[in-house]
Amino acid sequence: MSYLVLARKWRPQNFDEIIGQETITRTLTNALKTGRVAHAFLFTGARGVGKTTLARVLAKALNCEKGPTAEPCGACGPCQEIAAGSAVDVQEIDGASNNSVEDVRALRETVRYMPSSGRYKIYIIDEVHMLSAGAFNALLKTLEEPPAHVVFIFATTEPHKVPVTIHSRCQRYDFRRIPLALIQERLEKISAQEKLAAEPEALRILAREAEGSMRDALSLLDQVASFAGAKIGREQVVQILGLAQRKFLTELSAAVLSGDAKRALTVVDEVFGYGYDVRQFCRELIGHFRNLAVAKLADAPERLMDLVEDELREVQAQAEKASQETLLLLFDLLVAGEQAMAHSNQPRLVLEMTVAKMAHLKPVVPIPEILEQIRELEARLGSAPAARASDPKADPPLFEPAGPASGEQGSTPVAKPAPAAGNAWEQFLAHAQEHDPKLAALLGGGRFRGVSGNEVRVAFAPDSLGLLRLTSKGNAPKLNQLVEGFFGAGHRVVVLEENLEEEPPAPRHKYLEADKLRREAMENPLVKELQEKLDAKIEEIKTK
Ligand SMILES: [Zn+2]
Repeated sequence: MSYLVLARKWRPQNFDEIIGQETITRTLTNALKTGRVAHAFLFTGARGVGKTTLARVLAKALNCEKGPTAEPCGACGPCQEIAAGSAVDVQEIDGASNNSVEDVRALRETVRYMPSSGRYKIYIIDEVHMLSAGAFNALLKTLEEPPAHVVFIFATTEPHKVPVTIHSRCQRYDFRRIPLALIQERLEKISAQEKLAAEPEALRILAREAEGSMRDALSLLDQVASFAGAKIGREQVVQILGLAQRKFLTELSAAVLSGDAKRALTVVDEVFGYGYDVRQFCRELIGHFRNLAVAKLADAPERLMDLVEDELREVQAQAEKASQETLLLLFDLLVAGEQAMAHSNQPRLVLEMTVAKMAHLKPVVPIPEILEQIRELEARLGSAPAARASDPKADPPLFEPAGPASGEQGSTPVAKPAPAAGNAWEQFLAHAQEHDPKLAALLGGGRFRGVSGNEVRVAFAPDSLGLLRLTSKGNAPKLNQLVEGFFGAGHRVVVLEENLEEEPPAPRHKYLEADKLRREAMENPLVKELQEKLDAKIEEIKTK
């Protein structure tokens, strides 16, 4: 007995065997039950999602000896002939090769005659969008006044190429891509029946590669089974399909995100040594960076990615390491690289240079964030100390007794005599400046509100960068270390959210003497970055 490919052997024979198109099968079975079946259908959707399969099932439903019925018996003459593709009354026509006016005219000749044995003459025209304009016109005449015994089922992957006049005379059904989980489930069932020992992970990869097409999924299973035999593992699938192992993708992206061009080039070399097609690898890398961006941007990224749980967690962890701007730029670089590879006869070199460029890309700080940082910097450098030195709000006593009411707004803090009280905040900022200039810059933008117990209180305007940054989890350990290093173990910075608009700008802190000020400005990472990015020079540092 000759080998029957899986896609044909396991072709659904009934409405309820058709997977992933429930809305359509339900509508059609209802129409059959109530005897209200249209005379022309337009089935649209990607390849391999079940359009012609459903067309055949519909043909059986209409011509079954026990029909018209929503459950064709599958045993009678018409049912078996249709399944075998030999039914005289059901014609399957390939629109691509029968696309001329003459072809359609010949078809119209046969339309006039009554069906030979079945109830209906059924014409299934696949890839109907390939018909010529003249052919569509000829077809239209029949569609305008279809004989009662004729049913047309048109299938197309490109509905926009089908004239509106045809559309308007058909009942249209849009087939969706079949969800990965359903394809995987089907593959599992079929491999069990075929006595193939396939790892679920292997089948999941096949399902993913099929991109929503059941036919492609089954062809891939055929392909893998014919090489691997009855035992199908993940490694074999990866090898036979020439897919880059995920570990190469994640290693390469990790190298890129940490700016390690050397490591990135090594990974490309390993990929090449493994015998992968570099163009294919590049396409998969694009998919991987797309996932990283989606993980960063989407609320429920798992729904937008065909990944198993481990892979998803890995992607999310990597996405954490870069801003969305950086990820989008890296994606653009890769896409440009892929396009360059398409025109190059040295794709490997192009890929190498692409990943090197990606690794050298500086982290991108979003413009609004830069502006906000500039504003904070300005606010910090911008006020004269002398005028505010005695302002109790701007320079509160350092210590106040801890107590239940001490944190309330408006309560008058009772100053505890302490030698360093007046300028402890200044000293703390100087301490911070030494250890972590970035945090010092953020802290300096706030208003010191005194120390209560082991709480060092600083106020920020709502939504200010200082507030957001200092309360972010990432900064907490550094901040704790700073404050404990100065105020003693157990101390914590407590960030208060206050409306500061009424208040004068933050005082210029005394530790910022003129030369320090300049040095600090020069060394400020933000200023440095601005200098680089905008090719700017520091001309003068003004204090207001
Ligand atoms: Zn039947």
